[in-house]
Amino acid sequence: MTEKVIAVADHRYRASAPLIPARLIAPTGELLDSLHRPLRDLRISVTDRCNFRCSYCMPRDVFDRDYTFLPHSSLLTFEEIVRVASLFVAHGVRKIRLTGGEPLLRRDLERLVAMLAALPGADGERLDLTLTTNGSILERKAAALKAAGLGRVTVSLDAVDDAIFRRMNDADFPVADVLRGIDAAERAGLGPIKVNMVVKRGTNDEQILPMARHFRGRDVALRFIEYMDVGATNGWRMDEVLPSAEVVERIAKEFALAPLPPSAPGETAERWRYAEAGVAGEIGTISSVTKAFCSDCNRARLSTEGKLFLCLFASRGHDLRALVRGGASDAEIAAAIGLVWQQRGDRYSELRSAVHAAAPAGERRVEMHYIGG
Ligand code: SAM
Ligand code: SF4
Ligand code: SF4
Repeated sequence: MTEKVIAVADHRYRASAPLIPARLIAPTGELLDSLHRPLRDLRISVTDRCNFRCSYCMPRDVFDRDYTFLPHSSLLTFEEIVRVASLFVAHGVRKIRLTGGEPLLRRDLERLVAMLAALPGADGERLDLTLTTNGSILERKAAALKAAGLGRVTVSLDAVDDAIFRRMNDADFPVADVLRGIDAAERAGLGPIKVNMVVKRGTNDEQILPMARHFRGRDVALRFIEYMDVGATNGWRMDEVLPSAEVVERIAKEFALAPLPPSAPGETAERWRYAEAGVAGEIGTISSVTKAFCSDCNRARLSTEGKLFLCLFASRGHDLRALVRGGASDAEIAAAIGLVWQQRGDRYSELRSAVHAAAPAGERRVEMHYIGG
C-alpha cells in the first residue's frame, strides 16, 4: 500500500505523517469513514495563543508565563492552510470554521479569510465560512472580516454579569467589550450570530437565565454547552457538568419554548424558539456529555501546525504539514487525507463512560486551545 512515509517527531502530541497510498485515487467529494460518516466540516486552528484564561480551557496555573507556545515557524502559513483546505473541499467539506486559541490574535487574519472565501465550494456553492471568537477584539475587526468574505461568527460568552465574566475569563476582561463586539458583528452582517456559553455548575450556571433574558428578542442563537472533559489540564469533574435538560427546564420556567428541527445533518445543537409569537431568538443546547452525537460527526480538525485530528478527544494527530513541507503533490496529500478519513472510527463521546480519561500510555489528549472548538 505504502510508497512514501515521511516520519516526523513532535514534542507536543504524537503525530506521524499519514501514509500516501500507492494508488492515488482522486477525491470524489463523497468520502465516508468506517462508520459511514461523510467529511463535511473542517475546523482550522490558526493560533494556540489566547488573551483569556478560561479555566475549562487554558487554566492559568498551567498556561502561565513559562508555558511555551508554538514558535511562528511551526504554524502553517496562510498559503499552506488554503492549499490543505482546498483538498478537504475536494473531499466534500462544505463548512470551514476558523478557531484557536483566539483566532483574531493571528495577524492579518482577514487575508486568510479572503483567500478561503475565494475557494470554489462543492457544486459551485459558496463555502460556509465562519469563525469562533471570544469577542474581545471583534468590535474592531467585524467590518473588515465581513468585507474579506467571512459569512458569520460564533461568539463565546459565559456570563452577562461583569464580575462573573471577568472571573470566567480570568483575564479581568470586561463583558461590555464583548457585547459591543456582538453588536458590531450584527451591524456588519455577520449573522445569524451564535453565542456559546459553557455552563459549569456552581461557577456560572446562575447566568443561564440572565443570558436568555439578554438575548431574547434578538436574531441570535444562544447555545448552552455542557462542560466537557476535553484535554488533560482542566481538572474536569462530572459533578460540574450541568445537563442540558436542566438548562432547558430552567429557561422554560420563565419563557415557553417550542422545539425546532435540526438545521443541518451533523448539527450538534438541539434547538428551540420562543413560543410567544413574534419574539426573535433561539435557544440551543450542545450535550456532548449527556447525549453523545458521534453517530453523525462529520468534523475534522486541523491544528495550528498542520496536524489533522479526527476527534476532539484524540491523542494522536496526522501530520499533514510533514507532507506539505516534504514536497508531496496535491494528489498525494489528497489521497493521504482520503485514507485517514476512510479508516476513522472515533466516537469518544459515545464511549465516554467506558473509557473515561484513557489516553494510550505515554500519550496525552489534545488540548482545546490547540485544536480549536
Ligand atoms: N477562543 C475562541 C473562543 O473561545 O470562542 C475559539 C477557541 S475555543 C477553544 C472554542 C470553543 O470551545 C469555545 O466556545 C469554548 O467555550 C469551548 N470550550 C473550550 N473548552 C471547553 C470545555 N472544556 N468544555 C466545553 N467547551 C469548551
Ligand atoms: Fe481562549 Fe477560547 Fe480557550 Fe477561553 S475558550 S481560553 S477564549 S481559546
Ligand atoms: Fe465527533 Fe469525537 Fe465529539 Fe464524537 S467525541 S462527536 S467523534 S469529535
